[in-house]
Amino acid sequence: MANKLELQSLVRRFREVRALDDFSLEVKKGEFVSLLGPSGCGKTTALRIIAGLDKQDFGNVLVDKKDISNIPANRRNMGMVFQQYSLFPNLTAYENIAFGLSVRGEKSEKQKIKALELLELVGLPSHGARLPHQLSGGQQQRIALARALAFGPDILLLDEPLSALDAQVRIQIREEIRRIQLDFGITTVFVTHDQEEAMAISDRVAVMNHGKLEQIDSPSKLYNSPQTSFVAGFVGSANHLPGELDSSGSVRVLKQRVGISKFSEHLGKGSRVTVLVRPEDLKLVSQREDNATQGVVSLKSFLGPNSTLGVSVGDLPLIHLLLDSKDSKNINVGDEISFVIKADDVMVKAVE
Ligand code: ATP
Repeated sequence: MANKLELQSLVRRFREVRALDDFSLEVKKGEFVSLLGPSGCGKTTALRIIAGLDKQDFGNVLVDKKDISNIPANRRNMGMVFQQYSLFPNLTAYENIAFGLSVRGEKSEKQKIKALELLELVGLPSHGARLPHQLSGGQQQRIALARALAFGPDILLLDEPLSALDAQVRIQIREEIRRIQLDFGITTVFVTHDQEEAMAISDRVAVMNHGKLEQIDSPSKLYNSPQTSFVAGFVGSANHLPGELDSSGSVRVLKQRVGISKFSEHLGKGSRVTVLVRPEDLKLVSQREDNATQGVVSLKSFLGPNSTLGVSVGDLPLIHLLLDSKDSKNINVGDEISFVIKADDVMVKAVE
């Protein structure tokens, strides 16, 4: 199996909408990359173009340096799993898997061995005789995955395959997808708008916005070193606080002066800005500290090891703090607390 995938400067327009706008991406052999972004940012369009189900206006799609832009979908050797269960309703689970093999001309004895192996691999060895309507949503998606892998595709494309499943099954199936992907070592592109899902299973996540690539990085790098304010706001949660830039590369926010991230938008001294501060970058302090901000706890949510506090400060939107549950156990709604920003630097962006 080979299979490095490259998208070079793809443009796809639908009338005045630029679904993809100079979109480039490289997925290494065996890598699991998620396309993550808000609704309408071009994720599905990119996936359809990779599969050959749609065609770009400009740019190229390369697999192992070979331009496949003009190769029709049925000759691209890519396995796909869609959001909606797309199994043939009148074929059993086993027949659904074997179908792809027979289309590719596999001998029936080989088909049988392979289809049974795949049923085993997706954890449904005794479900081969069931029709799709006799399977749960999660089981149907496992069969769809087995079918997509049956003919040994070069690349696996997954378009929101978990979105119709309930929360617990989603987690279970996403872990299985990742296990099987690693097992096969297959180059995979996974479309989702769920950041937790993307972060949980990907080698790298490509964040898209308005048809463009904002940043592609490992989940931890995206979270810890966002390179655009869009990524900082979209990945993880952040408080949006008003601030003012001063001349020394820092920003005045709440009662503090904090360094600004080197990736922040370049704005002049005195500019009013929005400062993005993660809930875990705020820390409780004693009332006496000079630079501390005081507020009243309006909300408290217990999340197991952590808890969040929603704190009212003047007429600012509610400010969220993420704390160790042990540190917040004596804090209740209505209490006055003091906190500071503990991050060395913060991302700022122009006020919208
Ligand atoms: P979602 O998460 O909601 O599925 P997405 O990121 O996958 O969104 P796309 O489906 O790729 O987004 O759509 C990108 C843009 O292109 C959207 O503005 C969409 O309305 C538009 N678009 C997509 N397909 C077509 C089409 N066949 N005709 C017209 N506009 C389209």
